[in-house]
Amino acid sequence: MMDTRFSPQISCALCSKPVDLQADLCADENGKSVHGDCYFKHVARNSPADQRRSS
Ligand SMILES: [Zn+2]
Repeated sequence: MMDTRFSPQISCALCSKPVDLQADLCADENGKSVHGDCYFKHVARNSPADQRRSS
């Protein structure tokens, strides 16, 4: 009868795996749904040498 998957499946914009809305959901700067962990890696990878200024 009722499909339990009523809520839309959201995929991570970074790894394309399903995002658990109640655990992993995070949004990137563009408002796309991503895993918090993926976003963290994404930001870390794309951030300019800003964080390496310590040298
Ligand atoms: Zn992800």
